Amino acid sequence: MKQVYNFNAGPAGLPGEVMHQAQEELLDLQGTGLSVLEISHRSKEYEQINDETQQLLKELLHIPSGYEVMFVQGGASMQFAMVPINFLPAGRVASYIHSGTWSGKAIAEARKMGDTAIAASSEADHFTKVPDLHGINLHPETAYVHLTSNETIAGTQYHSFADTGEVPLIADMSSDILSRPVDVSNFAFIYAGAQKNLGPSGVTVVIAERELLSRIPAHIPDIMNYRIHANSGSLYNTPPVFAVYIVNLVLKWIRNNGGAKGMEQRNRLKADLLYSTIDQSGGFYSGLAHKDSRSLMNATFRVMNDELELQFLQEAEQNGFVGLKGHRDAGHMRASLYNAVTYEQCKALADFMVDFQQRFG
Ligand code: PMP
Repeated sequence: MKQVYNFNAGPAGLPGEVMHQAQEELLDLQGTGLSVLEISHRSKEYEQINDETQQLLKELLHIPSGYEVMFVQGGASMQFAMVPINFLPAGRVASYIHSGTWSGKAIAEARKMGDTAIAASSEADHFTKVPDLHGINLHPETAYVHLTSNETIAGTQYHSFADTGEVPLIADMSSDILSRPVDVSNFAFIYAGAQKNLGPSGVTVVIAERELLSRIPAHIPDIMNYRIHANSGSLYNTPPVFAVYIVNLVLKWIRNNGGAKGMEQRNRLKADLLYSTIDQSGGFYSGLAHKDSRSLMNATFRVMNDELELQFLQEAEQNGFVGLKGHRDAGHMRASLYNAVTYEQCKALADFMVDFQQRFG
């Protein structure tokens, strides 16, 4: 097979072990003689996968007992709409932290549903850093505060979070869930599309405080009501069986590799290697994000000029590096360093960058 180094932003590379196991089991799931693609979601085999996957998330994220874990569909974008539909009653205000493209999309959806406020924004800095959370002033009628823990496009990430006290804190953790330990008790609600750190696209993991779910008004359509999904154990309707199955395998891989702490160590080493290559290049490469907001998941950078950027991308592609072209909103380069990306792959990229600079710098 062709040697590739996968730095895609999502869907992204999955651990090799997981891909092999999925391949081995594809035609015969645990001796059933059936594929996971052709079993009922009400079968005991799938129920076991569903329950175990929820259990694994609870274990790996140390989710406290007052929380529900569920799987929903429609991607993180669906949650941009479902969050205000479920948690923004008339007369209240949804407060958003605006840190880039993804939080911007969440804000746009919330605005269609009710009153919103921007509690903090880094728009004036072109989203090159995360907005400071300390000392933010919340509207007295704030129903919840929403933030994006990692802005996949800008390459910025929160390295600590504010305590919002009684006001529920809601986080889109699509691009950094389980890349490091987080204190779930700090959040009332977390959602994450699976396709970066957890598995394939098609399933979104939701972690919700039970108390918050109890406040959801009954008039919301069942399919959009988080309480219905939680109460039916994520089996309200036919779930994305295959996606959940792969998430199950990925979570076991994370557990076998040191859990959230192990992932953080691994991710730090990878990001340090890449950012130090950028910082030691004497300006040939430069990071797009402020140093203290740099993401461990998405390293965004530019090459000295447009012409060399084009050359860099062409040569990278010829050498098997995939997914390095930045998102159209940010331009330039982006290397996504999710959990499944290995140190060796990052080393190959760093070596390629040094070599490229030697030839063109
Ligand atoms: N939020 C963040 C932080 C993301 O990175 C993405 C996808 N890249 C989304 C939301 C949207 O996810 P989806 O395409 O699953 O709707």
